[in-house]
Amino acid sequence: MAEEEYKDVWVFVEQTDGEPAAVSWELLGAGADLAKTLGVELCAIVIGDKVEHLCQESFAYGASKVYLMDAPVFHYYRTEPYYKAVCYLIEKYKPEVVLVGATSLGRDLAPAVATELKTGLTEGCTGLTIDESRSLLQTRPVYGGNIMATIVTERVRPQMATVRPRAMPIPEKDTSRQGEIVRESMVISEDDIGVKVLEVIDSRKQGEAVDITAADIVVSGGRGVQSKENFRILQELADELGGVIASSRAAVEADMAPMEIWIGQSGKTVRPKIYIACGISGAIQHLAGMRDSDVIIAINYDRHAPIFEVANYGIEGDLLQVVPAITKHIRELRAQK
Ligand code: FAD
Repeated sequence: MAEEEYKDVWVFVEQTDGEPAAVSWELLGAGADLAKTLGVELCAIVIGDKVEHLCQESFAYGASKVYLMDAPVFHYYRTEPYYKAVCYLIEKYKPEVVLVGATSLGRDLAPAVATELKTGLTEGCTGLTIDESRSLLQTRPVYGGNIMATIVTERVRPQMATVRPRAMPIPEKDTSRQGEIVRESMVISEDDIGVKVLEVIDSRKQGEAVDITAADIVVSGGRGVQSKENFRILQELADELGGVIASSRAAVEADMAPMEIWIGQSGKTVRPKIYIACGISGAIQHLAGMRDSDVIIAINYDRHAPIFEVANYGIEGDLLQVVPAITKHIRELRAQK
């Protein structure tokens, strides 16, 4: 494989019913830096049914070219037609780097593409840079978060990576930007696809699996919350603020909170507008998952807790008193309006 044949940085734009996943724009921001360093173009791949509007959005977030595959067969995400479409585009246009969001969809799609193309894929990256030999340095936590590894795809192309949602900032949107749309199609008939979608059940509407990585306000509890029952006071504050609850690893290990809401190096990465850390000491592994929040508020009764070093606002006190007091105050302010 001649490496020189491969150029440009591509970002897969994830969508559901034409609604883009925010991670796609985060990746365009990261991809722009990579493309600039490499001196190549930043392109997006948009695949779906009636999704042409996402081309303009991709330009607004930095892509200068979009490869568009728009057909009814792509209406619902299914591995087979999507991975075949992405492989078709990659084989034809040969990008050097392909980035995909490390969402449920991306974690399904990217390995299928990499396997078909016999290329390397690094899953769940939190950092991407280019070295002096034009290789993509892909950083991610490994061994349960014990170390950060930097992985290079040395001999095969494209270099593929999935990137955790919220690991990178969304670039500024500029709706005046224009670009080139490359319309592509391939012969893929419904009859050739083994999986049929019979019904779509939106788990968010069933009150399950809140996506904490997408929340603007996160109220997070650590070992200092002391019990599962006490997490209820955090939930009340989160409900009052229209946010979600999260936790430290210690709180999950103490069986106070479920696995899915653990933030940090070995958990999820969040970048909310407000992160309220309650009874969290601020260990480096926890900070790795939340330190890029816009505003950090820490509540802790130990004034020397390291969380205060990253907090914009600190409250020294017992969270079991402070949190309900804040919730009560917000309710009173609402009632006055
Ligand atoms: P503690 O460190 O025990 O802190 C509890 C805090 O609560 C203290 O500061 C205390 O002063 C305060 N407090 C207690 N009671 C009250 C009260 N009533 N009111 C106010 N404050 C109170 N951790 C993560 O969170 N995420 C990770 O992804 C993660 N990955 C890890 C990976 C590895 C390889 C390793 C070795 C560790 C990892 N950890 C991770 C664990 C991390 O090192 C810390 O042990 C953990 O973050 C501590 O959680 P905590 O702050 O809730 O608990």
